[in-house]
Amino acid sequence: MLLSIKNLSTTYANGVQALREVSLEIPTGMFGLLGPNGAGKSTLMRILATLQEADSGAVTLGNLDVLKQKDGVRKILGYLPQEFGFYPKVRAQVLLDHFATLKGIVNAKERKELVEALLQRVNLWDARQRKLGEFSGGMRQRFGIAQVLLSDPKLIIVDEPTAGLDPAERNRFLNLLSEIGENVVVILSGKYEVKRDRHKNLAIEIYYDKKHPYNLDRMIAGVKSAFDYCTKNFGLYPYKTVKIVEVPDYGIIGGSARSQPTVFTWTENGGFISNLEDSTAIDVVFNTTTHEMAHQWWGHIVKAAEAEGAAVLAETMAQWVRVMCMQQMYGVEKTHRFRQDEMDDYLSSRARQQVDEPPMMRSTTQAYLNYDKGTLIMYALQDYIGETRVNAALRKLVNQFGFKEAPYPTTVDLLAALREVTPDSLQFVITDLFETITLYDNKVEEAKCTTLANGKFQVRLKTQTHSQRE
Ligand SMILES: [Zn+2]
Repeated sequence: MLLSIKNLSTTYANGVQALREVSLEIPTGMFGLLGPNGAGKSTLMRILATLQEADSGAVTLGNLDVLKQKDGVRKILGYLPQEFGFYPKVRAQVLLDHFATLKGIVNAKERKELVEALLQRVNLWDARQRKLGEFSGGMRQRFGIAQVLLSDPKLIIVDEPTAGLDPAERNRFLNLLSEIGENVVVILSGKYEVKRDRHKNLAIEIYYDKKHPYNLDRMIAGVKSAFDYCTKNFGLYPYKTVKIVEVPDYGIIGGSARSQPTVFTWTENGGFISNLEDSTAIDVVFNTTTHEMAHQWWGHIVKAAEAEGAAVLAETMAQWVRVMCMQQMYGVEKTHRFRQDEMDDYLSSRARQQVDEPPMMRSTTQAYLNYDKGTLIMYALQDYIGETRVNAALRKLVNQFGFKEAPYPTTVDLLAALREVTPDSLQFVITDLFETITLYDNKVEEAKCTTLANGKFQVRLKTQTHSQRE
């Protein structure tokens, strides 16, 4: 079942255009509409729910023409508006039974079984004898869903379902919707505060919970920093906006932030409520923002082939941008501490692995390689050949593979580009960093500095250096 919306527009009698040329394809599963008040979310939902007319455009659900076959749509639609009436003095089970009768389920046994099953499904079984007036907001929402499910809908629309719910209720409610969404199209909307900023031609929007405004400025600084770094070195950003959207912790699989073209979602715990008052701490919010922003180029503009090394072309490249932006913003000293942390993570993680460590170019799902070692080797590489050369090689990849379909690049292409900009005397560095596992153990045993007559300094170092290839 696919809900397809094409060029939907509507203008209210007072001249306000609520929707302009909206086009969307929504498959089964949960689909969120988000925006500030007045963005047109409720209007779109009301049109889909056959409660309001559109001026132009087309909407189909499977074979149904949603704008014309309204009766057909109503048979498979479940709509839960922001506010819905309920009967405070009636017990939950009695009321649901009553609604089932209204739905035309006349067989008493069949109706009883359905009502009981639904009350269990929405986790209201224990409260079935309580009156609706005694229910919490979340319980009422779940009762609303049970009511919606009476007609076995194929399309469920829920307008701002979690407004006013506490976190536990919110989790329970959204988990219920995602369960239902396995074979139904579920559309829900959310209410956010929006922080807006502009940078050159880029509109920046952060959709956040009113109670979590702490780190928005760091996010905006991160967007700007990575935008400048990436447009300068890898080419233009092809869109006019970037949006960061706060989501609950359970809404994300793998990692706390996730980048899609023009939008990245970020969990509340992962960045929005991080406490960064200690100014000596590493600014993880700024850092993460630059990483996610870099994915617009490395992951979206350039897509890697599904082969060994794929994550190097996405995560390691994003780490490269992260460490260079961090250096620009916070200086070499803090960046050094960050790299020290990455080194500790890399060395301790590699010691714990049950699977042999592959060379970087053949890394697959190993986060300790794609992120931690990735930061270290890219930074080391620019120490050897210079930042300009590293970026010239990366720019070549973007030019060659950006916005293109298969064949997608692999780390073989990355290494070829890097070798091209690396002098003969330093080719071994590429071998050490990417093609083999080579560990260095360097230390300075003694350092002496004397001031010369001409005002310059003479520095003598006694060093010990050692490398080992596995
Ligand atoms: Zn990433």
